[in-house]
Amino acid sequence: MSEHVRVAVIGSGFGGLGAAVRLRREGVTDFVVLERADSVGGTWRDNSYPGCACDVPSHLYSFSFAPHPDWPRTFSGQEHIRAYLENVADVFRLRPHLRFNSEVKTMTWDAEKLRWGIETGTGFLTADVIVSATGPLSDPKVPDIPGIDSFPGKVFHSARWDHDYDLRGKRVAMIGTGASAIQIVPAVQPEVAHLTLFQRTPPWVMPRVDRAISGTERWLHRQLPFTAQARRGLLWGIRELQVQLFTKRPDQLGMAEQLAKRNIARAVKDPELRAKLTPDYRIGCKRILLSNTYYPALAQPNVDVVASGLSEIRGSTLVAADGSEAEVDAIVFGTGFHVTDMPIADRVVGADGRTLAESWKDGMKSLRGAAAAGFPNWMTIIGPNTGLGNSSMILMIESQLNYMADYVRQLDVLGGRAALDPRPAAVDAWNRRVQERMKRTVWNTGGCDSWYLDANGVNTTVWPGTTTEFRRATRRVDLAEYEVLRPSVPGESRRGKKATQDKRVEAGA
Ligand code: NAP
Repeated sequence: MSEHVRVAVIGSGFGGLGAAVRLRREGVTDFVVLERADSVGGTWRDNSYPGCACDVPSHLYSFSFAPHPDWPRTFSGQEHIRAYLENVADVFRLRPHLRFNSEVKTMTWDAEKLRWGIETGTGFLTADVIVSATGPLSDPKVPDIPGIDSFPGKVFHSARWDHDYDLRGKRVAMIGTGASAIQIVPAVQPEVAHLTLFQRTPPWVMPRVDRAISGTERWLHRQLPFTAQARRGLLWGIRELQVQLFTKRPDQLGMAEQLAKRNIARAVKDPELRAKLTPDYRIGCKRILLSNTYYPALAQPNVDVVASGLSEIRGSTLVAADGSEAEVDAIVFGTGFHVTDMPIADRVVGADGRTLAESWKDGMKSLRGAAAAGFPNWMTIIGPNTGLGNSSMILMIESQLNYMADYVRQLDVLGGRAALDPRPAAVDAWNRRVQERMKRTVWNTGGCDSWYLDANGVNTTVWPGTTTEFRRATRRVDLAEYEVLRPSVPGESRRGKKATQDKRVEAGA
């Protein structure tokens, strides 16, 4: 007989570990956390590139239930964030629940038994509920560049850094100018022979006010925890106010552009380079990046900025869309992740036998960023339209954990074997509201293309409001937004969603 659990959590980054802590707090101990790698940390485990750090201050970029008075810097590096997550796993006694090297191959809804069958790399199990916390930044995207197979040198993605490969003295091409690339460039520029940066679109980069947190501050945060809470509250409050500019008044962002232009002018004296680096779209349309070292690195004599995307590779020669060429020994792709086309969606098979990817082929849609119609008892952390452009994703994750906790509670209250399937009308209503608010935001009106938009140009990733609004919207599961499914009568062999339709009890009826 295969193993059965109440809840299967997938992924052990911030979302998965947070779900595990919350489940234990709700008194649910019958759960596993399935993790494809051999340690916790998610994106903070996978991204170990030189210079990797978070651009949200650590006192805000951490769980409210696991404060860490000893953050060493205002913006912590990857190794500290990863260590923090390892510590969360220990302190909250999550280790017995963790299953490493257990990549989920498929999740299939069993409409008769009202549970999920989960095929992993190490075996099969079933679960009443799946909490998918695989995150949007987990599967690296490498563009399909013609001729890439002909390249004789080293190639890797920023999220799969090859620490065995020595970049010293090499001619290196950095592809992309997103949050990852702008941290890698200043970290590797001093040691490489030559760096060619392929910039398709220049980002807006603001100064980074980063400093070591003093021993006194840390002592204070340890002795008087409310001081750390006050610090977190201040960091949060500023961002709650800021987001109004992004969501309602993008026209007022001009002053921020002036500050960012000064950041370029301070470091880059060459007018030609300065022009290349100056964006022509509204600040905030793409994620605003923070760095004091990016522009100074680009002004160094061993760096060339090609203001054009990489379009072809001929042996060791990289050809840009504008025809310029560069001969290199290594290529680093800082080209982002499969966000609106996340591969995990191909592995979820719902009530009518369709995959989540098929269901989302015209765009990702969920109920309150968590549940998808036709995928009963399946929810996701950092689902559609839960991303933030300016604040800490941990705030959004914690709101989703509130929703998850209530979801499990509601199933308990319903009693017996039951499942919740979002009503398509409720999903549509939620998405209509989200997209209506999205119309005015800088992400939709700022005149840029970004990973926030899907292939149809629809913003299915970012939350167009404050974190407080999202918290309110996800405090409780509203059963009227769901159909309650009950098992079909024994002996009837039926697989699809329709099979159980007549057995459905109208929620709230
Ligand atoms: P990204 O923001 O998606 O950036 C990808 C970059 O690759 C873009 O500049 C894109 O250009 C470029 N690109 C794609 N194909 C190209 C081609 N053929 N030639 C030249 N350039 C090409 O990816 P990311 O930098 O990995 O960041 C992803 C997200 O991770 C961030 O937005 C952020 O949420 C998170 N992150 C955060 C931090 C932090 O906290 N500091 C650090 C790293 C990542 P276009 O702009 O023209 O599309």
